[in-house]
Amino acid sequence: MKSTFYHKLTATSLDGELLSDACCEKILSDSEVELLPLLDAAYQVRKTYFQNRVQLHILNNAQNGSCPEDCHYCVQAKTATTDIDTYSLKPEYEILAEAERAYQSGAYRYCIVMSGRGPSPKRVAQLARLIQEVKAQYPIEVCLSVGLIDEPAAHILKEAGLDRLNHNLNTSESHYPKICSTHTYGDRMATLHAAQSVGLACCSGVIVGMGEENSDLIRVAKELRRLEVASIPVNFFLPIDGTQLKNTPSLTPDYCLRVLCLYRFLNPRAEVRVAAGREHHLRGMEVMSLYPANSMFLEGYLNATGKEASRTLQMVQDAGFIVETNGEISAQLQTEQGNVLLKELEVLRPRMECNS
Ligand code: SF4
Repeated sequence: MKSTFYHKLTATSLDGELLSDACCEKILSDSEVELLPLLDAAYQVRKTYFQNRVQLHILNNAQNGSCPEDCHYCVQAKTATTDIDTYSLKPEYEILAEAERAYQSGAYRYCIVMSGRGPSPKRVAQLARLIQEVKAQYPIEVCLSVGLIDEPAAHILKEAGLDRLNHNLNTSESHYPKICSTHTYGDRMATLHAAQSVGLACCSGVIVGMGEENSDLIRVAKELRRLEVASIPVNFFLPIDGTQLKNTPSLTPDYCLRVLCLYRFLNPRAEVRVAAGREHHLRGMEVMSLYPANSMFLEGYLNATGKEASRTLQMVQDAGFIVETNGEISAQLQTEQGNVLLKELEVLRPRMECNS
């Protein structure tokens, strides 16, 4: 492909114009579109809005398992037979202690994740108190992932100081019935609208590799653009025994990187986060994801260890990116600090992001 093709991708994105569906399809599937110039074109967009900074996020699975929903990809679904740690909402002191560790570890954002269809009014009030406590004690951004919520609940959480609500679209409207039967794409959209109607910033993303077509991924990327979400986690599906989703096609590092580039071109100002499955699917190409994406979780999702956190940090630094912590640009974290991080993250041990 001629260099003008790649230049045009960057220029179109920076001009705020939409790439055609045909062009998006080309990015994902045309072997004439070479990966390195494509990554460079996406990096030009990323660099314009995020320079060479990387935001690192830490997850806390505050409530795990026993979910009444049947999301076919999820180990916490009522239909999953995977052996996982199941626990109801952790005590407040534990959630606060983990917020402190996240802050001290230099994380930009602390993400509280709960399994379940959505919180009861009593739970919303409890979460609001927790958010107030965290925000009063630590200058760290707080994001909450709690399933479906309505406008009154969103209002209470916003008033408590919540910075961002996570609620992923996961896949396109037409593909949605194939991955879940207990709620609809429309339910998910209603939650995002409720959050936006009270002024809450939204984090909403996608899971790649659940048997969808390229056109589904393109539709989701364009929908997220229309919604002007602040942050887009791009997850790569990890087939796990015991979940309903089986026989999904395997992903290649090349394809995963193309998806990240596509999401960057279509959402130039949004944080694009390379999320679950990055280690497994990107393998030796993992570091390349930092060219389209400006954000990642500090460690993986399945029984992640501090060692993994240290490796992630080293990878970010080795590639010449700068870690953005607590809303400020830090100097390059030193290895020693990486070791501190390692120790603290061994205590945190987040397990799995809920894609609520
Ligand atoms: S993704 Fe969330 S809502 Fe769906 S089954 Fe898992 S925990 Fe429940």
